[in-house]
Amino acid sequence: MGTSHRQAPVKNLVKRVQEGLLDLFHNPDGYEIVIGNGGSTAFWDVAAFSLVENKAQALVHGEFGQKFANALTNPWLHKPTVISGEPGARLELIAEAGVDSYVYPQNETSTGVVAPVKRVPGADAGALMFTDATSAAGGIDFDATETDVYYFAPQKNFASDGGLWFSLMSPAAIERAERIAGSGRYIPEFLSVKTAIDNSRLNQTLNTPAIATLFLMAEQTDWMNANGGLAWADARTKAASKHMYDWADASSFATPFVSNPEHRSQVVCTIDFDESVDAAAVAKVLRANGIVDTDPYRKLGRNQLRIATFTATELGDVQKLTAAIDYVVSRLG
Ligand SMILES: *Cc1c(COP(=O)(O)O)cnc(C)c1O
Repeated sequence: MGTSHRQAPVKNLVKRVQEGLLDLFHNPDGYEIVIGNGGSTAFWDVAAFSLVENKAQALVHGEFGQKFANALTNPWLHKPTVISGEPGARLELIAEAGVDSYVYPQNETSTGVVAPVKRVPGADAGALMFTDATSAAGGIDFDATETDVYYFAPQKNFASDGGLWFSLMSPAAIERAERIAGSGRYIPEFLSVKTAIDNSRLNQTLNTPAIATLFLMAEQTDWMNANGGLAWADARTKAASKHMYDWADASSFATPFVSNPEHRSQVVCTIDFDESVDAAAVAKVLRANGIVDTDPYRKLGRNQLRIATFTATELGDVQKLTAAIDYVVSRLG
């Protein structure tokens, strides 16, 4: 792991991840995998500096969507149009003259609300779609031709660690990055997509990446591809989340937080508890018994558990979890 990231063992590892991801995403024509350091949070600033031309429209219905909207509120862009809905549901992006970038989270991880990967009908010619796929990529199948910038980090469905961002970019997005880089706009090197593209084409990153993260990512991506790719991963997360939602529907004390079944995420299930059961107390007992991270998103402030049903999660484990919750609730009462 101590070798230079310009040496063959690291560059081959980066190449393996790039090729594996393109296979997983159905090899869309002309799209490239661009990589940089700093995770999805860094990518919001990368996009604001390097990809959004004049004005964006942002779909917001939770923490992560809001953070991208905030990054697009800066001195060199027009104020973005923000379409803001209640957490637990979502609205739609709508065609707006003068908007060159439409941005939305595919899976709003704070609330467990999913959005389809679809272009906005009637958008200006050349407008780009930006999909925050951080918690969706590798767990939900999609058609890459419906987006231009499909970005994510490896610590969710890819069961790897944090710190890197990956972006599946369309030819139009690459052309936009090159045009803005040549426009004279001030762009810090770390936030330059042009620099990231040039490095990614050489199977490297601008500065040293976490090798262990890339190694785990490569193993996970190969595992998904060997088992049937994204359609297989999608079926797995659908089955695991269906178990959670069916359990909640049948339960006397639990209900899915997202009321519209079409908006319910297959990778992050948010389950409200009625007031007779203290969800935080349940999460605490589960944690004390080795079942960790069922806690809700802090800032949502609900009497709720939030369960990830990412691709690596076995259906059998989710079934054990609901049995464990039933057992704990029966003893707490
Ligand atoms: C986790 C998450 C992020 C933040 O990812 P980092 O790599 O920690 O910056 C952004 N967007 C969504 C939708 C997420 O789930």
